[in-house]
Amino acid sequence: MASGAELIRQVKDRIAEVDPREVRDRLRPSENGAGSNGASANGAGAAAAKPVVVDVREQHEFEEGHIPGAVHVPRGHLESRIEGASADRSAPIVLYCASGNRSALAADTLERQLGYENVESMTGGITLWKDRGFDVEVPRALTPEQRSRYSRHLLLPEVGLEGQIRLLESKVLLLGAGGLGSPVALYLAAAGVGTLGLVDDDVVDVSNLQRQVIHTGARVGEPKVDSAEEAIRDLNPGVEVVKYNTRLDASNIMEIVEGYDVIVDGVDNFPTRYLLNDATVRLQIPVVSASILGFDGQLAVFKPYDGPCYRCLYPTPPPAELAPSCGANGVLGVLPGTMGLLQATEVIKLVTEAGDPLVGRLVLYDALAASFTELKVRRDPECPICSRPPGEISEEEMGVFPDYEAFCAAAG
Ligand SMILES: [Zn+2]
Repeated sequence: MASGAELIRQVKDRIAEVDPREVRDRLRPSENGAGSNGASANGAGAAAAKPVVVDVREQHEFEEGHIPGAVHVPRGHLESRIEGASADRSAPIVLYCASGNRSALAADTLERQLGYENVESMTGGITLWKDRGFDVEVPRALTPEQRSRYSRHLLLPEVGLEGQIRLLESKVLLLGAGGLGSPVALYLAAAGVGTLGLVDDDVVDVSNLQRQVIHTGARVGEPKVDSAEEAIRDLNPGVEVVKYNTRLDASNIMEIVEGYDVIVDGVDNFPTRYLLNDATVRLQIPVVSASILGFDGQLAVFKPYDGPCYRCLYPTPPPAELAPSCGANGVLGVLPGTMGLLQATEVIKLVTEAGDPLVGRLVLYDALAASFTELKVRRDPECPICSRPPGEISEEEMGVFPDYEAFCAAAG
């Protein structure tokens, strides 16, 4: 029986090894944007396909820093997980560990037992890689407090550590800190969305408290963005709140909206909806939209170029007399809660890429009947906005809509 050291020596004799410098060079071309057709960028026959780089170390070692773009498959899970990293048995794979021994053994397993044809082990492992001064990526890890706070998310395979980190790094903008915005803000803050932007120019009124649960009686008269910020801080001080105590309009929309990953639309007027649509199609930011009236709610996700936009669905605004935002209307107090939580769910799905987002579908909720109806909605090839590439949508075209005050006045 061979000793451990002898076994590793034997394995290294029969597998292929590769120097860190060579690995770095092979990873380089497409990182610089040369694309898959690297032949022109690469004279000396090194135009081989970019290898899949697999880190076979333990979780804590990977978290302390790894080769940028490396896939983590701990050696203990090699056989069960390698196909997730590379299902193609002929594709080039480079394995590495701390110093080159575990990766040599893993390379031997891949070749001899799993039939991989193009496997190499990186000599000297990440230790030599670092000694050469090459880049190391340190993934974000959760603090003990965050591990505890988000433990129920971490238990879900669809969210897990990766999904939670995505949530923590995400920026979500809420248009309105009212009926829909209240539950959305509270639950997204609880879920650990890293940055919540709030746009609202209103102050808390006692008539809001029937449904706008982020506000309190003690904060009547305060700006809604301040009141909401206080509630979010109490719930989850890790969330950064960015306040915009203003109304969204053509003059500020591009400045406010840019840089957010998802926008939650709870605005109550059509001109802003069209303006928002046009700006977000141009910036390619998905919008989770809901509206409520009486006992009825509507919900849709507008993901630019993936599904229809708001204008595909509503090419023209409804007649002014049917526009609910022109005056005070009755609404069941719990209805924005129901619709807002459906919106928050869609936001989390978009950020974590879990499940099927409500793209190309419109959900209608009838609270009195306790029924949900789903309608398929398609992109309009003639859509004035999303039928064209984003760069062609000009500032002048955005939010083209009749003057709003005139529009409401016409409603009588
Ligand atoms: Zn469209």
